Amino acid sequence: MTTDCDVLIAGAGPAGAALALALSPLALRVCLADAAPDPTADTPDRRALALALGSQRILAGLDAWPALVPLATPISAIAVTQRGWPGVTRLDARTVREPALGYVVGDRALQRALLARLTDCPVQRLPAAVGAITPDGERLEVTLATANGSPQRLTTRLLVAADGSGSAVCRLAGLATQQRELPDSVLLAHLHTDRPHHGVAHERFADGRALALLPAPGACDYTLVWTLPHARAADLAALPPSIVAPMLQDVLGWRAGRVRRLDQMRCVPLREQWLTQATGTRLLAIGNAANTLHPIAAQGFNSGLRDVATVAELLAGARRADDDPGSDTLLAAYQRRREADWRRLRLATGWLPRLFENPAPPQAAARSLALAALDLCGPLKRHLMRRAMGLHGPQSPLQRGRWP
Ligand SMILES: Cc1cc2nc3c(=O)[nH]c(=O)nc-3n(C[C@H](O)[C@H](O)[C@H](O)COP(=O)(O)OP(=O)(O)OC[C@H]3O[C@@H](n4cnc5c(N)ncnc54)[C@H](O)[C@@H]3O)c2cc1C
Repeated sequence: MTTDCDVLIAGAGPAGAALALALSPLALRVCLADAAPDPTADTPDRRALALALGSQRILAGLDAWPALVPLATPISAIAVTQRGWPGVTRLDARTVREPALGYVVGDRALQRALLARLTDCPVQRLPAAVGAITPDGERLEVTLATANGSPQRLTTRLLVAADGSGSAVCRLAGLATQQRELPDSVLLAHLHTDRPHHGVAHERFADGRALALLPAPGACDYTLVWTLPHARAADLAALPPSIVAPMLQDVLGWRAGRVRRLDQMRCVPLREQWLTQATGTRLLAIGNAANTLHPIAAQGFNSGLRDVATVAELLAGARRADDDPGSDTLLAAYQRRREADWRRLRLATGWLPRLFENPAPPQAAARSLALAALDLCGPLKRHLMRRAMGLHGPQSPLQRGRWP
């Protein structure tokens, strides 16, 4: 039997689930397929996500935020420092007169909250992987591989690839991918110190690499995201935490207090890849399927949510005008509206690690001065902060809480 729908979303990760939720009030027939047996299963978080305030507003627009409030830690400020040099830039939510710069939530907790909100919505969930795609006039014919081995066929007017990094769906559709080789992995861990964080996150540059501490739910708890060369990250992850803790303290200094406990250490290799063109025949890509970024700027999912807000707004417009949801006009508008943001993020995640990689004293002194100068330059600081918070430029209806 063949099912017909208007929009098939391949991938129920945070990006795909958020899009399904955004489309649910639009009177479109929406299907959400995921290859994983049960993405809502109570699995531990793979990572903590720093959500910009603009992203929190999109999640509030989707009515998914109330369930996340008890799980989210507000970021009241970020202290940016460089080991061995004075000069600190403090980015404080009060500077931009906002309640927080953003919030930290676990990725699985976020996905679960979004999927739980979907249970009462007219979205058909399919436990299946998109296997083959064939254009068929005004539709795409899609073959889904189910766990019991019997393939299911479905036709759709628009296919959204939300199947994450190295998207199989984009590969099947023949979309060209580019990638940047990265010499780094990240060491992720949970950290407990002897000083309450009061919501302050730390970004520290040392030995040409970046280290981030994100405030976690406990008053003195943090999530550590430490960028290191591949071999070094793997070596540290294999050592007992009691040996790594003093090394970490040495790099971190004392701003966050004394490291009392370090656990849940694991090493994740980094990759950066993106689509040359994020659209194909009746297909567009969102989230990591379109752009997988270096986590240094904590912008991966934030950018994915802006993809979601743009697709939702374009499809709402098409629905009002009774237009085809997979039309070339809509696909071209999506590419046009997202391209500048994607390019800017790729540029930033490309030069940020390089900016701090040279530890020689003249370069380190210049950076130290630049951090101190930025701290004194109010208007520039406010501009950069609003940009990083996703509040720069026109806000989508979802962000403004006017949805649908
Ligand atoms: C160390 C680290 C730290 C990070 N920190 C931050 C941060 O602080 N802030 C931030 O904004 N971002 C951060 N990111 C990025 C963020 O994690 C990703 O952008 C986000 O998780 C991507 O979500 P997604 O839904 O696009 O993809 P995914 O979460 O990968 O979901 C893809 C889904 O597609 C399904 N799937 C796969 N193949 C198929 C198929 N053929 N058919 C159907 N379904 C399929 C999978 O089962 C999965 O459920 C970080 C990334 C890393 C590595």
